[in-house]
Amino acid sequence: MSIKNNIDAIKHKLPSKVTLIAVSKTKPNELLLEAYNAGQRHFGENYVQEVADKFELLPKDINWHFIGHLQRNKVKYIAPFVYLIHGVDSVNLLSEINKQALKNNRVINCLLQVYIAKEESKFGFDPNEIEEFITSKKIEEFKNINIIGLMGMATNTANDVVLNNEFKALNVLFNHLKNTFTNTFNFNLSIISSGMSSDYLIAINNGSTMVRIGSSIFGSRNYSN
Ligand SMILES: *Cc1c(COP(=O)(O)O)cnc(C)c1O
Repeated sequence: MSIKNNIDAIKHKLPSKVTLIAVSKTKPNELLLEAYNAGQRHFGENYVQEVADKFELLPKDINWHFIGHLQRNKVKYIAPFVYLIHGVDSVNLLSEINKQALKNNRVINCLLQVYIAKEESKFGFDPNEIEEFITSKKIEEFKNINIIGLMGMATNTANDVVLNNEFKALNVLFNHLKNTFTNTFNFNLSIISSGMSSDYLIAINNGSTMVRIGSSIFGSRNYSN
């Protein structure tokens, strides 16, 4: 199977309103270009240095999604070009993104990562924390960010019932926040980023509008570190 075939096969299963993000972390530029030449324009990366290097070398009309865990001291390296930051998991991080966006004279779109999995190690906001943050009005100080959706990572399991429940909970929270906080400055939810190679069909059944797919497009990853 070629990368183009893989992309076409996935797209065939996605409703037209769902955006496919090709997760290209650890993959060489030749493979990204192959996806690009097949029409792919949204790419997801997890590591700051890697995405900065790829941004330099690859076509400028690529939309770079940062989907990994982002450290505050590294925001400055992606602030000039990042299209959407998915894994925002604290108010401190939002504050730094706002600062770096201002320096670059941009408004940076962000998704709040929500804690939906049972696993202890997963990053993210607790749903209550999000409401506290919005009602505290602190959000209005952040004029250079725009919160446009939620991101969730389900438990790493083959149990469809567990996956379905977790994605459903994300969808319920999304609708609740969207309907409760209408007309809130900087907070206009339209995106649910959920679903990876192994679980994206369950995610889209539960309202996902952006799927992040790596291995089903590029093959499995070999980590050297
Ligand atoms: C690596 C990664 C993906 C893609 O995972 P695959 O199983 O290869 O599709 C999606 N989301 C995040 C946050 C990731 O880190």
